[in-house]
Amino acid sequence: MTPRDLPELISPHLRALAERSEPVARQFAPDAREAVATPDDRDDPIGDAAHSPLPGLVHRYPDRVLLLPTLGCASHCRFCFRRDRVGAKGMSDAEIDDALDYVADRPEIREVILSGGDPLTDPRLETLLARLDAIDAIDWVRIHTRLAVHDPKRAIRVAATLPDVRRAALWVALHVNHADELTPETRAAIRAFQAKGAFLVSQTVLLKGVNDDADTLAALFRALVGAGVKPYYLHHPDRAAGTEHYRVPLAKGRAIAEALRATLSGIAQPTYVLDIPGGHGKVWATDAFVTPSANGWIARATDGSHHAYPADPETAMVTEVAPAETK
Ligand SMILES: *Cc1c(COP(=O)(O)O)cnc(C)c1O
Ligand code: SF4
Repeated sequence: MTPRDLPELISPHLRALAERSEPVARQFAPDAREAVATPDDRDDPIGDAAHSPLPGLVHRYPDRVLLLPTLGCASHCRFCFRRDRVGAKGMSDAEIDDALDYVADRPEIREVILSGGDPLTDPRLETLLARLDAIDAIDWVRIHTRLAVHDPKRAIRVAATLPDVRRAALWVALHVNHADELTPETRAAIRAFQAKGAFLVSQTVLLKGVNDDADTLAALFRALVGAGVKPYYLHHPDRAAGTEHYRVPLAKGRAIAEALRATLSGIAQPTYVLDIPGGHGKVWATDAFVTPSANGWIARATDGSHHAYPADPETAMVTEVAPAETK
């Protein structure tokens, strides 16, 4: 399978920043290696399609759903795990109506997570949030976004449109991979969301050549906590086609997570997670869920199923395996 050719898109803010920062440049500059196909690549590495009852809605966990209103982003991260779709058409208005009906009909859904694409680039955001606020069973809404990094001035304009009074709490999960991304402009955007009463957490993707060492990540997580943003997840990179050159062996990620545990305040520690390929869900990448096997790793999903995971980025396909007899 040949990886999709993701169009180049870099905001003026990032273009200027990339000139001063190699780790930023490496995330946004197209690379010939994106055309390389490897046997364990996936178009849909985390198996969104397996849990999608309606277009743009992913319902993998009982109490929360993912909504992907737009697939547009203000810049294109070359390692994007939805790079098979980013930049394509998002949900139609009718599809959003259907998704909100689906949520309203199921009071067991307590959280709606807006993802994409970047939900903060969708002109329908304000009305969407108001409609979600009107569904009583929803305790909080979470927005996964990178706009404060991609285009901080635009993020500040979007923050200004958020209502001052809401019923459901608003959580913003900001995708940041390197301390260089926390420019004064991006910090101002973070403050704009905080001023609106949003709670901020961060998510970081572990990326070869960008942040795959403990010192780089410690600097990032300290800077985030200093800005009032709680580090939430450190994602093991997903096996999206065209991203092989960013992949880090799981053993290296685990060693980095351990080094961080030894040196960093608890409040600055994210959880290192692996999204088990095939839609089996996110699990801690520690021994609690992921254990060494003869030729790589065995990941245990929360439903008790076991899945082989390769030792190194280059090795074999991910396959279903029989659960261990004991334990
Ligand atoms: C990652 C993800 C979530 C959110 O999981 P958390 O562990 O709550 O952050 C929800 N739904 C889907 C489909 C996901 O991939
Ligand atoms: S912001 Fe997220 S969805 Fe958009 S290109 Fe970057 S990683 Fe992909």
